[in-house]
Amino acid sequence: MKLTTQRITARLRYPFRIARSGSSAGDNTEITRIVVALEHEGITGLGEAVPVPYYGHTLESIEQTVAEAGPLVGDDLEDVDRIIDRLLDRFDSERAAVSGIDSALHDWLGKRRGVPVWKMLGLDPAQTPPTSMTIGIDRLELLPEKVALAEPYQVLKIKVGTDADVETLTQLRRLAPDKRVRVDANCGWPPDAIVPRMLQILPFDLEFIEQPTKAGELEAVRAARAESPIPLIADEDSVRPNDVPRLDGVYDGINVKLSKCGGIREALRMIRDARSRSMQVMLGCMTETSLGVAAAAHIASLVDYADIDGHLLLSEDPFTGLQLADGVVRPSDAPGLGVHAVA
Ligand SMILES: [Mg+2]
Repeated sequence: MKLTTQRITARLRYPFRIARSGSSAGDNTEITRIVVALEHEGITGLGEAVPVPYYGHTLESIEQTVAEAGPLVGDDLEDVDRIIDRLLDRFDSERAAVSGIDSALHDWLGKRRGVPVWKMLGLDPAQTPPTSMTIGIDRLELLPEKVALAEPYQVLKIKVGTDADVETLTQLRRLAPDKRVRVDANCGWPPDAIVPRMLQILPFDLEFIEQPTKAGELEAVRAARAESPIPLIADEDSVRPNDVPRLDGVYDGINVKLSKCGGIREALRMIRDARSRSMQVMLGCMTETSLGVAAAAHIASLVDYADIDGHLLLSEDPFTGLQLADGVVRPSDAPGLGVHAVA
């Protein structure tokens, strides 16, 4: 078994800017991601690893982790649970790298068995909810163009958290009166201002609010939830399986992302635990190529809300193979993750 990494870059359709306390604002025009290749017995499985600076990952830390991971993966690739356990024992803080390996492993196993990952996991992609298309915080004059581009999608996601929230949502509702709209505050509201900020935007007929304030302010969120007629969903508060129990009764649901939790195996554990607590589940992604989004797409039939539009934010995607119909991103029937590099 051989593990290797390769950096890939992809250009963004629009510079990406979000509000997040503690990080400097700025525009990114392209992304760099790590493709993890797992070769064994003539079959190559691929996975994407996305460094999330917020969780302390860098391109270098991912490459270093994958370089050291080989002996922990071993040659018995059918033993997914124990492989991921060994990786997380050693690399608990490098879950983006573990996610890349986990995806490559699932891709390898599916290719080996000749079945798509969703089938291997006993899932049915027909149950996949529509994905939201993210509209970033931008100059308001770009909003009409962005909403027009998002026309094929049933659900829009707006990043809020600035003083312009009400103005943005007013404009958005003028442009898209009938769409489902969810908002992500990305940790942007002060803990003592969640309720007033929420009350300001509730008239815009919103589906839910994601991560209103910075991670760890659970009492403020619990109090806000008591006032909220719509669900509050944890994102930055919901990183790994161990986080789920303390979010029960605080949030209505969790946003699971492979780059945060460490891949498909860990995501399935989070989803199972959340379901056993009657919590809602959202599945998100980072801005990443079709390779990374595919790993999420294979398990998206398990969740209430899909937010797996990362590849749709690229002007050129280095991978292809995901399907998009009626605003639903679905995996293909091809073996493994069902994606391949664009020639
Ligand atoms: Mg979020």
